[in-house]
Amino acid sequence: MTKPTTTNTGIPVESDDESLTAGRQGPILLHDHYLIEKLAQFNRERVPERIVHAKGSGAYGELVVTGDVSKYTKAKLFQPGARTESLARFSTVAGEQGSPDTWRDPRGFAVKFYTEDGNYDLVGNNTPIFFIKDPIKFPDFIRSQKRLPGNGLRDHNMQWDFWTLRPETAHQVAWLMGDRGIPKTYRHMNGYGSHTYQWINATGERFWVKYHFKTDQGIEFLTQAEADRIAGEDADYHRKDLWEAIERGDFPSWTVYVQVMPVAEAEGYRFNPFDLTKVWSHKDYPLIEVGKWTLNRNPRNYFVDIEQAAFEPSNVVPGIGFSPDKMLLGRVFAYADAHRYRIGTNYAQLPPNQARAAEVNSYSKEGAMRYHYNDPNVPVYAPNSFGGPHADPEKAADTGIWDFDPTIVRAGYVQHAEDGDFTQAGTLVREVLDDAQRERLADNIVGHVLGGVREPVLSRVFQYWKNVDADLGKRVEEGVRAGLDGSQG
Ligand code: NDP
Repeated sequence: MTKPTTTNTGIPVESDDESLTAGRQGPILLHDHYLIEKLAQFNRERVPERIVHAKGSGAYGELVVTGDVSKYTKAKLFQPGARTESLARFSTVAGEQGSPDTWRDPRGFAVKFYTEDGNYDLVGNNTPIFFIKDPIKFPDFIRSQKRLPGNGLRDHNMQWDFWTLRPETAHQVAWLMGDRGIPKTYRHMNGYGSHTYQWINATGERFWVKYHFKTDQGIEFLTQAEADRIAGEDADYHRKDLWEAIERGDFPSWTVYVQVMPVAEAEGYRFNPFDLTKVWSHKDYPLIEVGKWTLNRNPRNYFVDIEQAAFEPSNVVPGIGFSPDKMLLGRVFAYADAHRYRIGTNYAQLPPNQARAAEVNSYSKEGAMRYHYNDPNVPVYAPNSFGGPHADPEKAADTGIWDFDPTIVRAGYVQHAEDGDFTQAGTLVREVLDDAQRERLADNIVGHVLGGVREPVLSRVFQYWKNVDADLGKRVEEGVRAGLDGSQG
């Protein structure tokens, strides 16, 4: 039997169809409180969209540990045989809510693990690297990828202006303009923790680690032409694919690996291992298998489970810590701060963000939209004499310890032997891509640059790609000049 409509407080309402008026042609009455509630609620249905990664999709799943990495970390979720419930959110970066899933962009790859030591979040991307290496550049970078202040349009000239003035972007831009810049679906892409993290084992030994989630569906991509067509036909192409795959029981999975670097090797490594624009070569640090991560449950309510999901790199559990990666350290602040603004100070009480396998015994209280109340018999301050929680260093762990020179400076990373803005971008182009991939890379760059890049940025674009690879730079310049001549002829 259909249930009666009620107000938000459960009072049965008179009508779904008619507002209360003074006579059939008279004005609407202010004391039609149900109408007022309905309109006011509607006006408030949206929370601010994320300034980055606004368009996303997600699902629940689990991590099952099949390998044995216990000699590197004591984190409970990575112990042999452990099974941990998980939530994933995939996203584009620059597009707003409702923007096409198939725009060329890195993809966010955010994972939450509901561990018995509290929630652990790994907030990565589908690339092992990023455009910049210092968080002070992040707002500038994102603004350059978003919209012009005057006409509200996206602008390739602005994007290439930023990229060419910041050559550390070259590795990520080479990746972005290649095949992996538009995955076929969210199921057909890898995920990477991207940052360098610290693992701490049961005896207190420390290691640097990088996470790799390799898709079991295989890497597949869309060409620019395919992506452009789909963007017009179905803006939610990737969201729909993920949802439908899980609904039909075709659960996507990823094999999780780590690269592990003993702390003592970091200083002498040929690349600075904390620089987010660089990878650690697989040849130097081979992948070690950790387990299988599977998505097997769709959200019951997109807004509640996915839009309100709050991933934060600050969520690390005992056995895992941070590293001198400055982008990571910046994000440790920025994500929790964004959630407090976007969904409120009590965001950790929302269903996707609640601890599920751990008990929460925090002293935080009150604030807007508080849902859980503190036990009235437990004091609201620490220390206390009345049985309130107290910190237990045995149960907790540090969030990462490392040696550093304590002089306060504003300076870039220490340069290692093979560091350089263009080194690994050149390796990717020359040694990883095959001829057909290089061809598509050049075509994609040419097409993108022809989308409005002007002098003085244009000349810098040619030099940027010549610095990555002489042949690629030549092809880009020839292709762009031919395109410009064609458009003027
Ligand atoms: P390897 O030859 O050992 O590894 C190259 C890796 O590149 C592959 O394992 C694969 O990583 C990835 N790859 C393959 N095709 C493409 C593509 N079309 N676009 C982007 N990445 C691709 O070399 P190194 O480890 O020494 O790295 C060389 C270069 O490879 C790096 O400069 C970097 O650009 C790229 N790379 C390196 C990764 C790393 O963590 N070392 C990871 C990904 C790329 P995967 O299996 O992760 O897909």
